[in-house]
Amino acid sequence: MSAEERGHPGPGPIRVLAPEVASRIAAGEVIERPASVVKELVENALDAGAAAVEIEIEEGGAALMRVSDDGCGIAPSEVESAFLRHATSKLRSEHDLFTVRTLGFRGEALAAVSAAADVELTTRPAGEQGAVRARYRGGELASRGSAPSAPGTAVEVRGLFAQLPARRRFLRSPRAEARAVASVVTDYALCRPAVSFRLRVDGRQALHTPGTGEPRDAVTSVYGAQVASELLPASADRSLREPAPGREQPRCLVGGLVGPPSLHRGSRRYIHLVANGRTISSRALVHAVEEAYRALMPAGRHPVALIRVEVPPGQVDVNVHPRKAEVRFRHEQLVYATVSEAVRSALSGAPAPEAPWLDAPARADGPRPPRGREALASAQPASSLQLPPDLTGAPARPGAARSPLPSGKPVSGRAALPLGERLPALRPLGQFDRLYLVAEGPDGLYLVDQHAAHERVLYERVLTARERGRPERQALLEPVAVALAPDRAELVAELSSELEALGFELSELDGGAVLLRSVPAALGSRDPERSLVDYLDALDAEERLTGPDRALATLACRAAVMAGDRLAPEEQRALLQDLEAASEPQSCPHGRPTVVHLTREALDRSFRRPPQRR
Ligand code: ADP
Ligand code: MG
Repeated sequence: MSAEERGHPGPGPIRVLAPEVASRIAAGEVIERPASVVKELVENALDAGAAAVEIEIEEGGAALMRVSDDGCGIAPSEVESAFLRHATSKLRSEHDLFTVRTLGFRGEALAAVSAAADVELTTRPAGEQGAVRARYRGGELASRGSAPSAPGTAVEVRGLFAQLPARRRFLRSPRAEARAVASVVTDYALCRPAVSFRLRVDGRQALHTPGTGEPRDAVTSVYGAQVASELLPASADRSLREPAPGREQPRCLVGGLVGPPSLHRGSRRYIHLVANGRTISSRALVHAVEEAYRALMPAGRHPVALIRVEVPPGQVDVNVHPRKAEVRFRHEQLVYATVSEAVRSALSGAPAPEAPWLDAPARADGPRPPRGREALASAQPASSLQLPPDLTGAPARPGAARSPLPSGKPVSGRAALPLGERLPALRPLGQFDRLYLVAEGPDGLYLVDQHAAHERVLYERVLTARERGRPERQALLEPVAVALAPDRAELVAELSSELEALGFELSELDGGAVLLRSVPAALGSRDPERSLVDYLDALDAEERLTGPDRALATLACRAAVMAGDRLAPEEQRALLQDLEAASEPQSCPHGRPTVVHLTREALDRSFRRPPQRR
């Protein structure tokens, strides 16, 4: 079936925007890295009414990116126009800029890509006999001819930034770039479940969605059947304005799938937002989603959610970001409230009205996902040290680890432990704010950051085990297959030997899953699947370190006690003893101090006591 038969209007004339329109377009770098090229090409394919989009990359996209679709194609006479700056078939007047229904509208992408790389475009509208193939070098047309091809468009981009060494230097490792590409494709695969996406990374299939139109099916391809089966349908609908006679009343429709509180994750990147068919990032709407989980989830944990917001095109400005990553809603607070309401009602177990454009029928097979209170009752804290706030009696403060040292009058003599110095024997006096251990030493008081200190202790222990080639592993009774999102599977491939050296025994299965046989002993084996997923999330977020150290420091950080954890006196003593035995006790693996020392002399001075003779 051609794009036209699926209801697409077919290729339109491509015209250069009038200067006054072009000048209103949010300026900025369109092509920043391979993932931005893939995003633009995928958006073009979707605008062309594609039912299937295939993406292939090599060497993180720097060597090759190929995006092909079965969309409407470009008319032979329009091919060159498509590469002109500000040339588009999607926008005519300035007014259109306020009612954009397509993903693209600036006419900049093909021009920008062809200026940054070698491009070969092959395109054929359904009505044409054959395809046109055009090659661009350095932004100029190098050749044009015909080629055999099925209807649709394929764009091949080679040697990104090869002629622009200054920009090429900013590219990260091929694996890191591949992960960014995978994450863009994942976002769109979830955003457009009616389209089948296939992603190949260096010849390996990283993602394949079936394109059934059911978001749950897309979620299954991305996060696995287990996660998909647990998601609850969410929906809400609010009017954006007081009803007025004779005026059309704009509405905000929200639909989607959200995880029960028990399905929590260590990062916010499992919250996917879609606005009018476009993947967006929005701190406000992420907050709106999380708001609905407040008090239902352990502190510092985040839900899995796919949320789609639909407002009339005039109610949202898509022209605020050079790479179209963000949008601005005219009634942001109302949209926020509608999103929160949709999620809240899904969690409360209220029967969600089936949102026609984004929902899946209840599955006959598989267990019924727990809902509302039931789901809450089955919510397990991730570790015994991370109780949900309502069980611990005080709100845990995820920001606590980052809060500065108590301010006030500076005490001279307050110092982190000098480099290379061992800790003296310390006697614990107690725990302050569930964050700092207060201890007495031979000369004054010692304040120890419990998380940083534990990180240091674990880091050295795991390092020693790794150097001996004998990681402390916790073997699983049965190997577990763990479904990983495509970018996480990339991360595993990138760091497989380091993960192995730390105690993760795993082998790659088809379609991004891995078979897990053991986890590092430091993580415990209570929920090995979650340990791995959380660990990978933390690893992805770890930007300060690289290489084996990054994998190791992340493990130490995941396994360490957190700010907010209450430590019993024996645990305090054990931690201090371990830190005393550490070879570099003064800082955590990231370089933050673990210990602050207040000397007796400095205390005396602060209290204006005469110097003591001892
Ligand atoms: P924009 O998408 O903002 O219009 P682009 O530079 O991405 O600008 O593309 C320019 C034009 O080329 C589009 O308006 C469209 O007409 C045409 N085009 C690009 N890619 C495709 C495709 N995959 N299928 C059909 N037409 C395309
Ligand atoms: Mg475009």
